[in-house]
Amino acid sequence: MTLISPNAPTAELQALDAAHHMHPFTTGADLAKKGARVITRAEGCWLTDSEGERILDGMAGLWCVNIGYGRKELAAAAARQMEELPYYNTFFQTTHVPAIQLSARLAELAPGDLNHVFYASSGSEANDTNIRLVRTYCAEKGQPERKVIISRWNAYHGSSVGSASLGGMKGMHGQGGVIPDVHHIDQPDWWAEGGDLSPEEFGLERARQLEAAIEEIGPEKVAAFIAEPVQGAGGVIVPPETYWPEIQRIVKKYGILLIADEVICGFGRTGNWFGSQTMGITPDIMTIAKGLSSGYQPIGGSVLSDEVASVISGTEFNHGYTYSGHPVACAVALENLRILDEEGIVARVRDETGPYLKEKFESLAEHPLVGEAKIVGFMGSLALTPDKAARAPFASDAGTVGYICRERCFANNLVMRHVGDRMIISPPLVLSKSEIDTLIERAWRSLDECHAALK
Ligand code: PLP
Repeated sequence: MTLISPNAPTAELQALDAAHHMHPFTTGADLAKKGARVITRAEGCWLTDSEGERILDGMAGLWCVNIGYGRKELAAAAARQMEELPYYNTFFQTTHVPAIQLSARLAELAPGDLNHVFYASSGSEANDTNIRLVRTYCAEKGQPERKVIISRWNAYHGSSVGSASLGGMKGMHGQGGVIPDVHHIDQPDWWAEGGDLSPEEFGLERARQLEAAIEEIGPEKVAAFIAEPVQGAGGVIVPPETYWPEIQRIVKKYGILLIADEVICGFGRTGNWFGSQTMGITPDIMTIAKGLSSGYQPIGGSVLSDEVASVISGTEFNHGYTYSGHPVACAVALENLRILDEEGIVARVRDETGPYLKEKFESLAEHPLVGEAKIVGFMGSLALTPDKAARAPFASDAGTVGYICRERCFANNLVMRHVGDRMIISPPLVLSKSEIDTLIERAWRSLDECHAALK
């Protein structure tokens, strides 16, 4: 076996990568032209690449490295568990201690009576679980015709065909299709779609689309509504304050299940353990992943209320993944939750660094290119615009200006992502105040450079 040396020149690593490695959400032409940035190490909130550059990770990987990189406790937890019991499944009435401990801990942390966890290895798998779960729940309650799940355009619920159908990304629907009995309503993006309505009026209008959809489909056919408390991959769309209370009223009125997709919002990202707490909602099911292990191990799950779990328990649930409740992933997640809790990381985002980041991030709205700067906890978004007063989009292909800005950020050793012409951040929750200053200073510089490039 001949492996390329980790110390090989970057161009050689990139060429071999482009030759054999298919990347998610990447075009082959871009890879062939420029190669991928090769990340070699990471510590705290900082990445190092194969050229030795240190890059501030304003995205916590893919919104997941909540406790930051390089925590040896998690490596030790994984090593201990690998020696003790590297694998066993949780099918057919077997279990193991890490799954028992993690489930009990999650039941303590989750709001309300969300006390039961069904594991997966990712958010996509967990949302696929949810499709079967809610339909089984309705069938077990004697309402098998209740199958429809309502979601929102521009939502992101994963990449498998089932979870991408729940999501509202048309580009994904175009590649692989959409499963039956999924319906989408519009998103609560006031800045881009609010027109002349006030944010409060618009929040109500968008929430009431759910009621209209239920009435149109027929309440007897609708099983659930799924949404992220704050849309993440859609561009960090913070809903107006009127939105969630109205959604909660509607799901209650029609007796449909509320699935809060907490894959990004969970585990401290919004300043509480869960985004549902920040938004004041009571879901029947929560999807979790990412921050559950801070990305150190692939693990996700569905957390069910007592009522949903008791109905599902009435039958054999014909569902499960080889790695559902993987012992190493559970052990690492437990250690991650211990650190989040004992080091007061969630409370710090709520009370200290979150408010500091909010003040600094919102000051970016003064930049001539920025129409809106919105942030909840440690997830924020800048809407780029040629005309602030009109809340106008760029006339060019959507995303071109965002792409230029993202490239300028990268050149300035800051990872910020673009979603169309929105620039978003979701840094590790351990970002310090001085690192916040660095992030804001680099973001402002990148915006300046992007602005100059447009002239
Ligand atoms: N749900 C939400 C809200 C997400 O943001 C994501 C991923 O970004 C997913 C589900 C899918 O998770 P995964 O990529 O772990 O499958």
